[in-house]
Amino acid sequence: MKKLVPTKRVDWINTAFLFLITLLALIAAPIYLWHHGMNAFQTGMFVFYVLATGMSITLGYHRLFSHLSFKAKWPVRLFTLVFGACAFENSVINWASDHRRHHKHTDHDDDPYDISKGFFWAHIGWILFKVLPEPPLDNVADLRKDRLVMWQAKWDKVIALTVGLMLPAALGYLHGGPTGALGGFLIAGVLRVFVVQQCTFFINSLCHTIGRQPYSTKCSARDSFLMSLFTFGEGYHNYHHEFQHDYRNGVKPWNFDPTKWAIWCLSKVGLASNLRRVPHAKILLAEVNEARRRAEAELARVAASEDTAWKESASEAIEKLLEQLADCYQALEESVADKVKLSREAAERWSREIREVLEHLGEIRQLRLPQLA
Ligand SMILES: [Zn+2]
Ligand SMILES: [Zn+2]
Repeated sequence: MKKLVPTKRVDWINTAFLFLITLLALIAAPIYLWHHGMNAFQTGMFVFYVLATGMSITLGYHRLFSHLSFKAKWPVRLFTLVFGACAFENSVINWASDHRRHHKHTDHDDDPYDISKGFFWAHIGWILFKVLPEPPLDNVADLRKDRLVMWQAKWDKVIALTVGLMLPAALGYLHGGPTGALGGFLIAGVLRVFVVQQCTFFINSLCHTIGRQPYSTKCSARDSFLMSLFTFGEGYHNYHHEFQHDYRNGVKPWNFDPTKWAIWCLSKVGLASNLRRVPHAKILLAEVNEARRRAEAELARVAASEDTAWKESASEAIEKLLEQLADCYQALEESVADKVKLSREAAERWSREIREVLEHLGEIRQLRLPQLA
């Protein structure tokens, strides 16, 4: 049975902080903008801080430290640790520990942001309430060996306050006096913290609620192009949950995944290495598996239909699609077992075949609707 939301265990520090940030971002920042507007300096500082802190969470906290999906030289680790702290999302040790438990226990009680406890809980509720006894930090022993990580764990609140809030205010003062200081604090500081935090929270809530599940329906994670726009490419969450150690979340070349592009660029200048990629055949195999599951579910639905003539023709069509998928599955499975790299042409062919089967399946569903009316 699910544990109830621990309403009697409010984390007052987190709650007060988030309440204050929200109030300042939604009321004080717009009042400032109404009176003083946004000059080029304030705009530049806001954009820099959104990118630096947002990407430090996705590229650093998430893909580098939580999933070890690539290796990074110290300047990258230091940058993402400093600006990751400025997102006010805790130290990387705590963040990665929660996140690793999220992957291990997705949709179950031990998942800190378990979506089955409701959208609000997954989005922000889990931060407002303490879970007692506090889960041990027993899954981040590897991170404790990194001296930079341990340094950040000691100073993350100080870094967040000085670099995340006081520095933009100081830079604003140098550029525009006291009004500039207030602008720097409210826009590049507070409003930016609010924006980046909400984007991160959406990954835990919306990315487990809206979108497609092309790789697996084992858990609630979903792929959404729309969400990738607000999350530096983390919107391809269905793929990510199936293959969490891949440095790419948007694995298709056309997927919008700025974090993946940034890691690739860092590797080209020698600041990142050992980029982990799941072989193409393995990814396609997951897609075929999912397509088969859908076709079988459709076949079961058709079998339950009362319309005998329709049942026969639709079943026959779906059986054919299943045969096609079985051939595809076999070829891909052999390629995975023998560790044979799939040629680009073969990958494109199988990919096209899976797409066509899913389209046919959709057409069969569409045709069935008038029969049911
Ligand atoms: Zn997730
Ligand atoms: Zn993850």
